[in-house]
Amino acid sequence: MKVTVDQNVCASSGNCVRHAPEVFDQRDEDGVVILLTAHPPAEHADAARKAAAACPAMAIHIEE
Ligand code: SF4
Repeated sequence: MKVTVDQNVCASSGNCVRHAPEVFDQRDEDGVVILLTAHPPAEHADAARKAAAACPAMAIHIEE
């Protein structure tokens, strides 16, 4: 799995962090997403998929 994020379209909703805090964080100053790991281990892959599905801005892209 390879995860990418587009910080230019992120709406700072925080859904990704709630679903997959091991994979995503948010910038303190404006809440924009920070990708912690582009290659999550298998145990966090499902959470990363859920985060991508829950992103209102479609800012998270996953390649399986
Ligand atoms: S769920 Fe999407 S819009 Fe919300 S903080 Fe994460 S990347 Fe940004």
